[in-house]
Amino acid sequence: REELEKMVITDHLTRLYSRSYLDDKMSQSMEEDEEGTFIMIDLDNFKRVNDTYGHQVGDDILIQVADLIQHNIRDTDIGARWGGEELAIYLPRVPLESGVRIAERVKDKVWEKSNPRVTISCGVSCWSKEHLDNMKEVVKRADEALYIAKNSGKNKVHVHGVL
Ligand code: C2E
Ligand code: C2E
Repeated sequence: REELEKMVITDHLTRLYSRSYLDDKMSQSMEEDEEGTFIMIDLDNFKRVNDTYGHQVGDDILIQVADLIQHNIRDTDIGARWGGEELAIYLPRVPLESGVRIAERVKDKVWEKSNPRVTISCGVSCWSKEHLDNMKEVVKRADEALYIAKNSGKNKVHVHGVL
């Protein structure tokens, strides 16, 4: 039973949490906490990486990036595979400013430590009790911010609502 639970909550390739586990934890946090920050992450030029080095190396790089994320956030934070080459971090009770710093830290680590070197782009958005945000909106805003990060040169962190 424990094994089965592990399968449901972890992504088998990256060993990060699954998207459904992040969903559960984030909605629980949005019920219980005052605020939180969500980071959507995409590997830059991943198609080119796969075309250049092959899918085996592509998978290995995805695992490397996942490990770098895992080692640079707290145990209480949720690093997850969102799908394909998209990863995500949910930070319960972390306000936007700290969340942005954490995103920058992870982005810098990936640039520093990945081999062959790859970069990531991050879109950041936060929620707070007083703004009555729902999870779908928070995710959508992070996605929009990620889109801007991608279109302004990659290897970037973009914060929703900040020009
Ligand atoms: P900092 O790195 O500038 O982080 C400032 C605040 O952002 C932290 O205050 C914490 O509230 C939040 N924060 C930063 N990184 C994370 C993270 O990965 N996950 C979460 N959930 N929150 C994070 P705090 O806890 O009072 O820590 C103050 C300072 O103490 C930090 O400033 C950092 O310099 C140091 N520190 C605390 N824990 C660690 C750690 O595990 N490793 C390292 N290297 N430094 C730490
Ligand atoms: P952890 O809390 O699970 O954090 C894992 C890693 O996330 C840290 O590895 C660090 O790379 C990053 N990290 C977490 N919080 C912060 C932060 O506030 N600022 C910065 N700059 N980085 C952060 P690290 O530093 O090797 O620490 C390993 C473990 O040692 C941490 O696991 C935590 O359990 C403990 N630790 C280290 N420094 C502190 C501290 O200042 N306060 C507390 N309470 N625990 C610490």
